[in-house]
This record gives sequence, structure tokens and C-alpha cells, in this order.
Amino acid sequence: MIAPLIQGLKLTLRYFFSKKITLQYPDEKWDVAPRWRGRHVLTKHASGKIKCVACMLCATVCPAECIKIEGAAEPDNRKYPEKYTIDLGRCIFCGYCVEVCPRDAIEMSTAYELSEYSREALILDKEQLMEPPQPRYVSQKKAG
Ligand code: SF4
Ligand code: SF4
Repeated sequence: MIAPLIQGLKLTLRYFFSKKITLQYPDEKWDVAPRWRGRHVLTKHASGKIKCVACMLCATVCPAECIKIEGAAEPDNRKYPEKYTIDLGRCIFCGYCVEVCPRDAIEMSTAYELSEYSREALILDKEQLMEPPQPRYVSQKKAG
């Protein structure tokens, strides 16, 4: 009769003194792997010009059909994306768009805090994608 009680207590005490694995998010955050597939970034040349040449390969290969591009041409015929959007609400973070890009013009960052209050807010435009993602949820303690 008392044996199961002692057994249960032993288990409780074992977990009570073992190393805690729960993180107090967002005060504490996991370090993700360097190859984590998070929010995309459109890369730029040192001059600040976007590397993308609007070849449409990423939009073509995307299984979720969440990349939309409208291409345009500079006076010297260099193509660039006038509009470039990724709908993160549809994206499955497979990374195919990064793999297929011939210009290394799109990368995936380690940013994983992507939740929004509306579906529209999950559609990122060219300007947003050219900026590195910022941490979304800052610890109230650290923020003071
Ligand atoms: S990660 Fe995959 S699903 Fe997301 S935009 Fe790139 S190709 Fe599409
Ligand atoms: S991001 Fe790369 S694959 Fe996609 S349109 Fe631009 S150059 Fe082509």
C-alpha cells in the first residue's frame, strides 16, 4: 500500500533536483542551429543594390506558391524585382528558394519569432525582406 506512494515520491524528488529544461520565454530563448531555416532575407551588393535579378526561379520552385515577383529593367537592361513578396503564412520553410537562386540573392535567417495578428501582416514585401529581422519579443525584465 505504501510502496507505490514511496515510488511516486522518489520520482517527484528525482525530477525536483534534476536539471531544469524549461525556458522562461521570452526572458530566455533557445539558441537555434546556424542552418536553421527562419525568416528570409533578400541580400544586397556592397553598393546597397538588391542582388535579385527577378529570374523567377524561386517563385517557380516554391511548392507553396507563396513568392510573388514583378520584374522590371534598369536603363542598362539589368533586371530587378520591382515587387517581391513572400507570404510567410503559406511558406513551409523548405529552403528550396535559397537552393535554387543563381545569385545567392535570398537567404534564410535564424529568426523564428514570426507570429502576427493578421494574415496580411505575414506577407512581407521587398523592403521588409531586405532588412535583417529584429528580435520580436523582448524580455520585459531586460527592457526595464
Ligand atoms: S522556403 Fe520553401 S515554401 Fe518558403 S518561400 Fe522558400 S521555397 Fe517557398
Ligand atoms: S531571389 Fe534569386 S531565384 Fe529568386 S528571382 Fe531573385 S535571383 Fe531569381
